[in-house]
Amino acid sequence: MTVLPATMLDAAHRLLILGGTGEAADLADAIQSRFGARIGIVTSLAGRTEHPRVVPGERRIGGFGGPQELSRYLREGRFDFVIDATHPFAAKISASARIACDAARVPRLVLIRPAWQRDPKDRWFEVEDAQSAAKLIPDLGKLVFVTVGRRALAPFAGLTGCWFLIRLVERPKDPIPLPNNRYELIVARGPFAVGEERALMERYRIDVLVAKASGGIATEAKLLAARELGLPVILLSRPAPEPGEMAENIGQALDWLTRMLERLDEIPPART
Ligand code: NAP
Repeated sequence: MTVLPATMLDAAHRLLILGGTGEAADLADAIQSRFGARIGIVTSLAGRTEHPRVVPGERRIGGFGGPQELSRYLREGRFDFVIDATHPFAAKISASARIACDAARVPRLVLIRPAWQRDPKDRWFEVEDAQSAAKLIPDLGKLVFVTVGRRALAPFAGLTGCWFLIRLVERPKDPIPLPNNRYELIVARGPFAVGEERALMERYRIDVLVAKASGGIATEAKLLAARELGLPVILLSRPAPEPGEMAENIGQALDWLTRMLERLDEIPPART
């Protein structure tokens, strides 16, 4: 049984934000400012981050146990809407959200970062996954800046002729799957300025950048720095977003919520 805190019970409408991104946290802030106590917010996190940002509303942590359980959570919690503000590479939870919202008949919005656009000066190599990136790296250089997350590092272990500068947002609980003398770890959370990114790549004499094609402005600076330096970039292609209504920024998401509220307020509440 979905148990919601008392603060949620007082709210006229209930929103579940699927989070784990800066955008999700910014969205919760913006909704609180725009709608106040009218919308009770629950932000759901997978539980990967040890110190998640504090956001307005309630927080729940951990997987739901698949789409059926998420659908049950939505029904039992009497949620009025869901905003999927997860990372573009978090494809499983987004698929789960689509199936669950369809089943529970809860309107769902996908807040998706706009995809990056290639500039003529960019030297991008788009690949399917980290395995394909690992095959390509030796053709492009030896000193490699990697920002793909800890779980995608294993395929680089076989590249004995390369050295890696690995940047993660948090210190990983599990060891990095590379020999100690073949990498340096930087723990830092963006956004970063283009100048900072450029200086970092110059300091380490980076030959090639490997990144996820996440899109959006928060992590774009490294691509702009690579462009300025004329460096090749291997981009892991992002999964196609789940179909449904989409917003590319917080303003569009707030507009969607406003429309949803207007629609709901035309219908007398069925709650007991
Ligand atoms: P994923 O592959 O889509 O999800 C794996 C499982 O984790 C899901 O099936 C779900 O478990 C659970 N889960 C994921 N996001 C959840 C959420 N917000 N609330 C509750 N359960 C969630 O996702 P992922 O790539 O592992 O990413 C996990 C989280 O980290 C996401 O919330 C995402 O926004 C954030 N993140 C991911 C990346 C990335 O590159 N993938 C980067 C930055 C942040 P059940 O099936 O049991 O419900």
